Amino acid sequence: MKKRRLATLWLDGCSGCHMSLLDTDERLLDLAAQVDMVFSPLADIKEFPEQVDVVCIEGAVSSAEDEARLHRARRHSKLLIAMGDCAVTGNIPAMRNVHGADAMLRSVYLEREPLQAQIPGTNLPPLRDKSLPLHHFVHVDLFIPGCPPAADTLFTALNGLLTGTADLRLDTRFGA
Ligand code: SF4
Repeated sequence: MKKRRLATLWLDGCSGCHMSLLDTDERLLDLAAQVDMVFSPLADIKEFPEQVDVVCIEGAVSSAEDEARLHRARRHSKLLIAMGDCAVTGNIPAMRNVHGADAMLRSVYLEREPLQAQIPGTNLPPLRDKSLPLHHFVHVDLFIPGCPPAADTLFTALNGLLTGTADLRLDTRFGA
């Protein structure tokens, strides 16, 4: 059977959702037997490829760079999964939205930094004023809440989608 092409993408998140994916432990071997991992922070691949079957995306969209990476992933993927509360709702990255990016940067790097007060800027992607969830930018095929989603939930979803036996009434909830 032809292997499906799986990708994972890390936008503005803490990597906890990817850690939860790794927490599927030995079941990773079951997944590995079904897929080629074609892009992921867990693999050293620089460019999001074409013709991806499923992409799982962690994190909110907090910069123009995040937005461009998300659009590329959408263009080249049949199924796009918002993995975790940051991707689904904005969650922690979106906590700054009430004040905006500039006020947040001033507060963190100037007003609360007694030693080397300066806003890091050189060579960093500029922040959007608001950090937003994926569905504000692209069509999302499946939302998997949780901070992070349980490993069992991620495995059930991925295994079901990859084998075409998905029962997507997932046992999920927001938060830990
Ligand atoms: S949903 Fe939670 S675990 Fe996942 S990236 Fe956001 S803060 Fe981290």
